[in-house]
Amino acid sequence: MNPNLNQSVMALKGIGEETAQNLAEMKIFSINDLLEYFPYRYDDYSLRDLAEVQHDEKVTVEGKVHSEPSLSFYGRKKSKLMIRLFVGRYLIKVVFFNQPYLKNKLIVNETITVTGKWDAHRQTITASEMQSGPNGKIKDFEPVYSLRGKITNKGMRKFIYLAFQQYGQSIEENMPISLLQTYKLLNRKDALQVMHFPKNAEDVKHARRRFVYEEFLLFQLKMQALRKFEREHNPGISQDYNLSKVKEFIKCLPFPLTTAQKRVVNEIMTDLKASTRMNRLLQGDVGSGKTVVAAIGLYASVTAGFQGALMVPTEILAEQHAQSLNDLLAPFQVRCELLTSAVKGKRRREILADLSNGEIDILIGTHALIQDEVSFQKLGFVITDEQHRFGVEQRRVLREKGENPDVLFMTATPIPRTLAITVFGEMDVSIIDEMPAGRKSIETYWAKPEMLDRVLSFVEKELAKSHQAYVICPLIEESDKLDVQNAIDVHTTLSHYFQNRFKVGLMHGRLSSDEKDAVMKAFSVNDIQVLVSTTVVEVGVNVPNATIMVIYDAERFGLSQLHQLRGRVGRGSDQSYCILLAAPKSEVGQERMRIMTETNDGFVLSEKDLELRGPGDFFGKKQSGIPEFRVADMVHDYRTLEVARNDAARLIQSKAFWTSPEYEYLKRQLEETGVLEGEKLD
Ligand code: ADP
Ligand code: MG
Repeated sequence: MNPNLNQSVMALKGIGEETAQNLAEMKIFSINDLLEYFPYRYDDYSLRDLAEVQHDEKVTVEGKVHSEPSLSFYGRKKSKLMIRLFVGRYLIKVVFFNQPYLKNKLIVNETITVTGKWDAHRQTITASEMQSGPNGKIKDFEPVYSLRGKITNKGMRKFIYLAFQQYGQSIEENMPISLLQTYKLLNRKDALQVMHFPKNAEDVKHARRRFVYEEFLLFQLKMQALRKFEREHNPGISQDYNLSKVKEFIKCLPFPLTTAQKRVVNEIMTDLKASTRMNRLLQGDVGSGKTVVAAIGLYASVTAGFQGALMVPTEILAEQHAQSLNDLLAPFQVRCELLTSAVKGKRRREILADLSNGEIDILIGTHALIQDEVSFQKLGFVITDEQHRFGVEQRRVLREKGENPDVLFMTATPIPRTLAITVFGEMDVSIIDEMPAGRKSIETYWAKPEMLDRVLSFVEKELAKSHQAYVICPLIEESDKLDVQNAIDVHTTLSHYFQNRFKVGLMHGRLSSDEKDAVMKAFSVNDIQVLVSTTVVEVGVNVPNATIMVIYDAERFGLSQLHQLRGRVGRGSDQSYCILLAAPKSEVGQERMRIMTETNDGFVLSEKDLELRGPGDFFGKKQSGIPEFRVADMVHDYRTLEVARNDAARLIQSKAFWTSPEYEYLKRQLEETGVLEGEKLD
């Protein structure tokens, strides 16, 4: 950057120490900071036809004063000034509160311009601003800055104006000209100028495009550089698996793989074989068959002489995975063991010993897997299920239990593509976008809580067909007493309702894992027909005979979570149902319920979820990992994000990027983040 722009804002004539201090509170120190401090919105003062203005909307009109102003005082120091104004073909009222001095400026038959809030019912504008004469051109479209201290919007505009006047010549381009030309983007100086002094919304849009692209390109360059250097600095292990054994294993599965499963298996096998380390995200909707794919990968790794680990977020899920992997792999002389906090004493010591001497091939468990006492003899392949529930740190610890093992992250919460390539930009992404044949789609209904009786008789009909039912009560935090109470209450109500016709079980996070286990077992062998539960059943649980799910207070869940929950039914060959009991008050809440009844596609739902909730809320508060962009918006600018990603990937691989001065600025930005030394971004 031109050194002139790095000077303190005090270099500007008209900015003294006090102003500089106020600006510092806004993190504006240098002249460049000032130039890059963009308005957060623009007020449109262009004239509009009142017929098109909504009630309560802010509007600017130009008109002829029709009546002598009437001024009245009330209260202490309060006043109301009123005139009638001819605006085009309308005669409206304009009121000014507490500005009695304007009276002399309101002269009958003279033209004035007024800005204020339009009350369509009373045909009145409550004015916030007034100027004599027709609408001044400068005021058509005004940037509004977010401000601190004593700085006013007008002042801010003046400072920026001064900055352009004194240092405009020093603004240099930093982006490669070729990219600007390709996308017809404004050069840096013009774009900055337009952001601060636009004529209209179109102008802003055009200038903004440049900064959005710049921001995304830099971000994606970091991701791509990280990926490149991770690969170069951390050579992985090339796993020389036994292909014919793997093929035999696939042949013995009780079903043929779907095309999507085959594709993903191939991607995983290629990664295992390669000498670079696998760093892959596998996305697939609930029930799309990720577990089988994981089993094939783990088996391949075992035939290459390595151990594997599968880490999942809950004990129930760990037990289920251990069970299903064991069913699949035991016939092939693969030893799978389960390690959770419930495994104690002698048994635990045995497992730990057998693990470190290599007698256990695959270890399945919860967080327990990443404790210090757990050591593998030769860990080659690590899979985490529902990866976003584990923090970045936990993922790293697990990875470091072996020497650069291959890593696969699985998730059943489809992540919208724009988020996936942002948050997981340094990973490869595999997608299972096809359901095994013969699945019936789940029919989803939205019912108001007062329809509970009808809902329950519908449930009863399913139970009468020897099917089973889930009843889900909201649980936001496992420790939340109220929510557990909620499940307990529903359990009591339903036990009473179904009397001795059907047995109702209860499951929540407060139960010990033995108790949970007992309830789950009873449900899976149909000793219990109705399972009232908090969201602990959310992931992975598999009871194909359950064909109906009722979700209480469904509006309290996000779309992705509702979809996850719903995935517990529809696992067998019978038609399944999901009933959302909800009385959402907001438009958005109602929209969410409607979407749930309309689609079973997890990717569609996740896109909607992102749209309705925004990126910040998408992953929940705990671990977002979502970068903050200054100008860009991941949801609305996703097309640009894709373009920038492709460009970044291409640039990182190109020779020109590393040699040509055209890319100097971009490279320097990468250097500043440490990516070029192979340091991690997270
Ligand atoms: P996910 O882990 O993606 O939710 P699972 O791996 O648990 O899905 O698979 C859900 C069910 O579908 C399991 O009962 C599994 O055995 C079965 N399944 C998996 N792949 C296929 C397939 N290709 N054809 C038929 N059934 C399959
Ligand atoms: Mg699964």
